Amino acid sequence: MPSTPRSAYLHVPFCRHRCGYCNFSVVADRDDLIDRFLNAIEIEITQVLAQTPCQQLDTLFIGGGTPTHLNPDQLERLLKTLRQHLPLAENAEWSVEANPEDITSDKLHQLRDAGINRISLGVQSFDDQKLAVLQRSHSGPLAQQVIEATANVIPNVSIDLIFAAPNEDLQRWQSDLQTAVRLPIKHLSTYALTFEKGTQFWNQRQRGTLLPVDESAEIEMYDQSRQMLGEAGFDHYEISNFAQPDHQCRHNMAYWLGNPWYAFGPGAAAFIDHHRNVNHRSTFTYLKRIEQGRSPIDESESITAQQAAREAAAFGARLLQGIDLADIERATGWPIIQELQPTLDQLLEQALIQISNTSICLTERGIHFADTVASELLGETH
Ligand code: SF4
Repeated sequence: MPSTPRSAYLHVPFCRHRCGYCNFSVVADRDDLIDRFLNAIEIEITQVLAQTPCQQLDTLFIGGGTPTHLNPDQLERLLKTLRQHLPLAENAEWSVEANPEDITSDKLHQLRDAGINRISLGVQSFDDQKLAVLQRSHSGPLAQQVIEATANVIPNVSIDLIFAAPNEDLQRWQSDLQTAVRLPIKHLSTYALTFEKGTQFWNQRQRGTLLPVDESAEIEMYDQSRQMLGEAGFDHYEISNFAQPDHQCRHNMAYWLGNPWYAFGPGAAAFIDHHRNVNHRSTFTYLKRIEQGRSPIDESESITAQQAAREAAAFGARLLQGIDLADIERATGWPIIQELQPTLDQLLEQALIQISNTSICLTERGIHFADTVASELLGETH
């Protein structure tokens, strides 16, 4: 594992409104804070790089929130700041998250001309009723048009889709998948809707006014994704991610393989020099701290070789290709194979993993219990 980060994440916390299921670090309808944020980001990047200079990045990911919620001038300033401070390798992957309702031809060209070569669209569904339940601002037809238009300018298009939304049945989910595979996308991430504490959906579920779909239906939908996307030529390479050949998300691969990364912005979590530093998740506190010349870091944890090895095993096991524990041992210096032996024996007995020499990978059954396998490898259950 390289010690100098070759990846960077930037969190842009602004959104038009807060969707009922969203638990990200987001501020809705506070565009008056954007200029202060742009000042703060430049200060934060400068300070972090003064401590850990950036050689060259292989991946840069602008996420949120909704980065494309910024107006053209604000977006230009942000992109300029990043280009100025974060040098990219020649074939680097530079991604941005975007919502369909923000995409215009001008914005697409602005992103492409700045060097962005991958776009991740928060589509979530093509079904207007489901989109209304999820409180999304776009319609299904608009999402389809935007995907077509985006692919003409930035061909490397990824989309996110949510399944197991309230009232969703298998047929509705199949229809979303059928639409997706007809469109010019290279990558698809799909997640079952979760009800996170603190969200509006969580409260509604507690009151009984919003009902989750039952677990067996959720599993059926997940299996349907695997089957239909596989038939359409997408490789299921990580529990929640599918890609056309050579279009895996390189940025996320860096996380899953345990490589270090910079992270900037409210709530962003960096992994640099054996430390995990998490910025304050409130945008207001983040801005105030930077404006007062203080650090935005809210939590800092030193990651031991043992933790690094266990985390690399747990995240790596979510990759369908599996992970070689000998590589982790070499990278961290921790005897993870010996330490995990009893756990591996148990997972093998439960038919959740396969082992070949020093490599482990999930079985068909294990794919459905990936979170359990990860917890066991992390040692959380002991
Ligand atoms: S658009 Fe995305 S980040 Fe913004 S509130 Fe909705 S789910 Fe959260």
